[in-house]
Amino acid sequence: MMVKDRYDIVVIGAGPAGSVAARYAAENGASVLMLERDRESGIPVRCAEGVSHNGIAPFIDIDKRWIASQIDIAKLTSPNGESALMHNNGVGYVLERRIFDTALCELAAKHGARLITKANALDLIKENNKITGVKYRYMGKTCEVKCNIVIAADGTESRVGRWAGINTTVALRDIDTCVQYTLAGLDIKRDTCEFYFGNEVSPGGYVWIFPKSDSTANVGIGIAGHLSHEKGPKEYLDEFVARRFPDATITYTMYGGVPTAATLKEIVKDNFMIVGDAARQVNPITGGGIVQGMIAGSIAGKVAAEAVKKGTFDAKFLKKYRKEWDKTLGNTQKVMHNMKEKFLFMTDERFNNLVSFCKKIPSDKFSLKSLFTEAVKGDPKLMLDVAKSFVVSKIKLK
Ligand SMILES: Cc1cc2nc3c(=O)[nH]c(=O)nc-3n(C[C@H](O)[C@H](O)[C@H](O)COP(=O)(O)OP(=O)(O)OC[C@H]3O[C@@H](n4cnc5c(N)ncnc54)[C@H](O)[C@@H]3O)c2cc1C
Repeated sequence: MMVKDRYDIVVIGAGPAGSVAARYAAENGASVLMLERDRESGIPVRCAEGVSHNGIAPFIDIDKRWIASQIDIAKLTSPNGESALMHNNGVGYVLERRIFDTALCELAAKHGARLITKANALDLIKENNKITGVKYRYMGKTCEVKCNIVIAADGTESRVGRWAGINTTVALRDIDTCVQYTLAGLDIKRDTCEFYFGNEVSPGGYVWIFPKSDSTANVGIGIAGHLSHEKGPKEYLDEFVARRFPDATITYTMYGGVPTAATLKEIVKDNFMIVGDAARQVNPITGGGIVQGMIAGSIAGKVAAEAVKKGTFDAKFLKKYRKEWDKTLGNTQKVMHNMKEKFLFMTDERFNNLVSFCKKIPSDKFSLKSLFTEAVKGDPKLMLDVAKSFVVSKIKLK
């Protein structure tokens, strides 16, 4: 396969954010190269794989090849063991990301983008301080590709943003440290995602059970970074699994960090854009970033292609991406970040009361909106922000 030494746009990272950015840039007329470090996008999986139908449907036709389970119910369990069922939040899926991420790459390719895997970006090429391309390692060789715009989509650990001079640091309290097991030998409901809260269960976070079948599930935990020094997430998860699934077999173990902050202050520079986890475009409450990254990728890809048409690559023009992102989801993310701060300091008693309250709402009327509105009761400013964010937000959460 021929790889040229010049493209309009080079995307680094072929996760959901990168693939969608590449696809929209190519679809809108730009020549695009996507570099992926691993041998295949989506592997190794570092995700619980939960998404909403409404979140992904605008980007890809639903295909049972990459759906493990359809989810209709969310079950929330408080520290005292009481549960509330949420029926009114739309359909969700637990994905097979190994297949889903590749399907997004295939869509990008179908629209004209080029992808090379096992291509590890090493550095940005700069001439007179201007970003003009990417240096990468491929098949044992160091190669260079020139371009007018680099889109960094290299995930949570993003080094590419730093190479461009963007401050990607996130406070410890805004990083959830996660451990997840895929468990087999369970007896669970395939249509129900479960969430467990409480300071003894998962301080500053939650335990999730996302079913992949009637007998297998991603069972994981995320706890706030600053609360994980005395007892780590693995210990909390092991205790939970021993209680809930004493006979289960672990078929896959995964560790990862999720940024639960607001979007980075700076997401464009001259000749440069950053998307997805790399830009901290993650829902700070749920930790979901697949849909968020796809939305950000679509906006960035379109703006980048427009820049190519105009021949204008400076930050002033690329800021259209920032503006559009904030309008679509960035402002909502800020509100969710403020709400997350509330959750961080919630006592077990408050969690118990919250779930008690939710139990009284008929399950077919109970939605995230009712949960969040009750959770911020007593804080009129945040209540108003939450109400507004549900009005303007164009997608369902996670
Ligand atoms: C434990 C856990 C559970 C999660 N559960 C959910 C969930 O249920 N639902 C949800 O929506 N989100 C979830 N997330 C978050 C979700 O996984 C991310 O938000 C999402 O993958 C972000 O997509 P992305 O494209 O920005 O980055 P990624 O999917 O991380 O993709 C980045 C890509 O860049 C590549 N790359 C990195 N560096 C280079 C380089 N130098 N050169 C070339 N390629 C490079 C990587 O190999 C990778 O393929 C979870 C995360 C964790 C850790």
